[in-house]
Amino acid sequence: MSAPTYDLGKLHGGLRLPAEKRLATNQSIQLLPLPEQLFLPLSQHVGDAAQPIVNIGERVLKGQLIAETDSSLSAPIHASSSGKVIAIEPWPVARRYGNRAPCIVIECDGDDKPIDAMESVAGYESLTPDDLLLQIMRGGIVGLGGAVFPTAQKLMAAISGPLDYLILNGVECEPYISCDDMLMRERAEEVIRGAQILMHALQLSKCYVVTESDKPEAIRSLGEAMGKIADDRLILKQVPTIYPSGGEDQLVQLVTNLEVPSGGLPTDVGCVVQNVGTAAAIHRWINLGEPLISRITTITGDGISNPLNVSARLGTRVADAVEFAGGYTDRANQLVVGGPMTGKSVTTDDIPLVKATNCILVLSETPDIGPEMPCIRCGECSAVCPIQLLPQQLFWYACADDEKQLRKHGLTDCIECGCCDLVCPSHIPLTADFRQAKARMLEMADEKARAERARRRFESRNERLAADKQQREEELANQKRQAKSIGSAEIQAMLDRSKEKKEDD
Ligand code: SF4
Ligand code: SF4
Repeated sequence: MSAPTYDLGKLHGGLRLPAEKRLATNQSIQLLPLPEQLFLPLSQHVGDAAQPIVNIGERVLKGQLIAETDSSLSAPIHASSSGKVIAIEPWPVARRYGNRAPCIVIECDGDDKPIDAMESVAGYESLTPDDLLLQIMRGGIVGLGGAVFPTAQKLMAAISGPLDYLILNGVECEPYISCDDMLMRERAEEVIRGAQILMHALQLSKCYVVTESDKPEAIRSLGEAMGKIADDRLILKQVPTIYPSGGEDQLVQLVTNLEVPSGGLPTDVGCVVQNVGTAAAIHRWINLGEPLISRITTITGDGISNPLNVSARLGTRVADAVEFAGGYTDRANQLVVGGPMTGKSVTTDDIPLVKATNCILVLSETPDIGPEMPCIRCGECSAVCPIQLLPQQLFWYACADDEKQLRKHGLTDCIECGCCDLVCPSHIPLTADFRQAKARMLEMADEKARAERARRRFESRNERLAADKQQREEELANQKRQAKSIGSAEIQAMLDRSKEKKEDD
């Protein structure tokens, strides 16, 4: 195996943050015990919720399909263990800040009995890319880096245009999170096997496997796995540890020196980016027959007694995972699902660990950053913005709710990385404001779309009524013409008869 290469593009802005990863990486990945109950949300992905195909009281097996999709953007859900379906009802979930969403609740029987059909796709190389993508879709695979976009749909969209590179993203740049690092250290071969499947699906002959230079163990394991598999289409690359170099567009820039255009996608410059965890999940489904029913999650922070990484069944409650990690410390104060920069603070641990849960972070205290003050136009925020936006301008337009200017100044390109917040001397919660502004824009776009649909319905109704009216008028005119011609014929017949009568007289 050749040494990892460094020939990199340049990333604008970004920050070197304290990693805080050692807390959870000084022991190997532990298997989280099966819980008594599993809570599986029907929506664990971007797109439409899956539809349940099991009934309350039904017995299910590990890996059994329990909710399927009837939409072009969705992902199926499989039972994470065997047991009985005891409810299909709303339950608190993290994606909605602890609000409830429909879940299938399974009471585990402890046997963990797999479904018979759990078998690998023999010889995926013989499948066409389309058939392989269909298989990937059936496994419920979604992006495990946090975006949870259905993987097959992302790949299907990608192959509709020209492609040059697959980039496997092992750049876990957000502090505290170490699930990808531990995956690469301990299951590097799964990652590389998954990359090979992805290359076949995309018909690509070059894949960069990328991680950060502060992960020597992961680099060594990946190197060994690549040496064993001996596939010269794979190239190992290191990037410097700068947050947020793991963002898709930032990684493309770093690895290929190509800039993803504003509002565009990596595919616009010939790249497809997949998280290393997603690649391993694809390997487990295609080569081993195990759909996405578990993931590696970091449980960490100074509010956790024994921080570590666990391999957890999806649907396990966060409370059960925390208990396995030794429980909360006396200082535990704030529970975050995800990392400290992009995660979500939640107020309950009675929520399930889902496909998106890369980290459960418990901190001892909420940092006191001081009161918010007016912007002093120092420009620090724009200096660190990786997208080269002007956060101070965006903040101004967000306060004014000026959608036109927000769009013009690129708010939709903001990746909500939080760098601008961290450096702002006025303690302005810029990212939270941008998040809200984006949500409002989405709502407005939704409302506009609804209004547009209503307008079209109204217009087509009017057109239909006008067409009906015109048809009725034409029919009436026809009847009159017919009546008139019938009337003339009858009068003519009467005249003819009267004339004949006179002649006879
Ligand atoms: S960092 Fe804060 S104070 Fe400075 S320009 Fe940006 S928003 Fe204004
Ligand atoms: S949160 Fe948005 S505006 Fe702020 S630095 Fe990150 S990308 Fe730029």
